[in-house]
Amino acid sequence: MTGIDDLPIRDELRGQSPYGAPQLDVPVRLNTNENPYPLPEALVARIAERVAEAARNLNRYPDRDAVELRTGLAAYLTRTAGHRVGVEQVWAANGSNEIIQQLLQTFGGPGRTAIGFDPSYSMHALISRGTGTGWLAGPRDADFTVDTATAARAIARHAPDVVFICSPNNPTGTAVAADTVRALYDAAQAAKPSMVIVDEAYGEFSHRPSLLPLIEGRPNLVVTRTMSKAFGAAGLRVGYLAADPAVVDAVQLVRLPYHLSSVTQATALAALEHTDTLLGYVQQLKAERDRLVAELGAIGYEVTESDANFAQFGRFADSHSAWQAFLDHGVLVRDNGVPGRLRVTAGTPAENDAFLDAARTVRKEQHVEAPSTEESA
Ligand SMILES: *Cc1c(COP(=O)(O)O)cnc(C)c1O
Repeated sequence: MTGIDDLPIRDELRGQSPYGAPQLDVPVRLNTNENPYPLPEALVARIAERVAEAARNLNRYPDRDAVELRTGLAAYLTRTAGHRVGVEQVWAANGSNEIIQQLLQTFGGPGRTAIGFDPSYSMHALISRGTGTGWLAGPRDADFTVDTATAARAIARHAPDVVFICSPNNPTGTAVAADTVRALYDAAQAAKPSMVIVDEAYGEFSHRPSLLPLIEGRPNLVVTRTMSKAFGAAGLRVGYLAADPAVVDAVQLVRLPYHLSSVTQATALAALEHTDTLLGYVQQLKAERDRLVAELGAIGYEVTESDANFAQFGRFADSHSAWQAFLDHGVLVRDNGVPGRLRVTAGTPAENDAFLDAARTVRKEQHVEAPSTEESA
């Protein structure tokens, strides 16, 4: 039988593993930061209408520039992210992962490097590798925040072409202050200049305002967003960026023609019509996230402060065995490879109750280190 290693694959892909959060059939699935609420019926009906309209034109290629969708996304950002954004500053693709891929194809690539502050979103490193961009793992503090001076020094030393700042950060939940982003942007411009990508996939769940206004006067700053989390539409595959119009022009050089299907554009437009209902779910999820953080702390776990729709907790002597213990209790959480920690997504109140019941039992079954004072919730 032929294996991967028998194929003439690129050297840097040899021995690597693909992205692979387990998709297991378990009663309570809180492992991939999905929104637990199915789309409301009125929206489902509207999607059917708009997709039927799109279907009548499926013999034609879609709008290559997705102008109507980008206009809707720009209006959404203008209304919710504290900064006026025009259609020429917004670009959309199949998930923010494709946005990140297009950015790395444009600004990274062979002979270039990207830096992120670990632990962070594993796809930043994986898409870097896939685009031939060298990956540098930058530092994060013991409380999982990014220290401005340490991070700026790493940027000055390595002079990367692309800097990833994930805020709120996955898998830790920690947000990055606007002052830190300003300082790291300045450090990146002094060192190279390089592109700074702020991944705000969880922006809507944060206690803090969006970092989007920072794109003003910073032509090399990009903010990426997604409809996968706040809009409850992970299955849709729509992500987007906001930046200087020149960045939107630049990614045209690498995007595949007609990359965003007519069906996808129609569905996303229908979802945008229901923004207020969907943001109502976000409010409920933020309250549930705060409840998870508080109750996990009360049970005796160390919980990392969270601005996202999930919480990181521990510290387990063996996080894989703790992950398995949750699974044995019918709850799928995520082991992101952060030593001693697991991550749980905020689900419905009933799912969170089931998780917390399991968490009480697992606390007795597993060896859990007592919280250190400054990090406990
Ligand atoms: C979930 C997530 C994304 C979203 O990816 P999509 O391709 O838009 O589904 C992007 N960045 C981070 C940090 C995420 O956790």
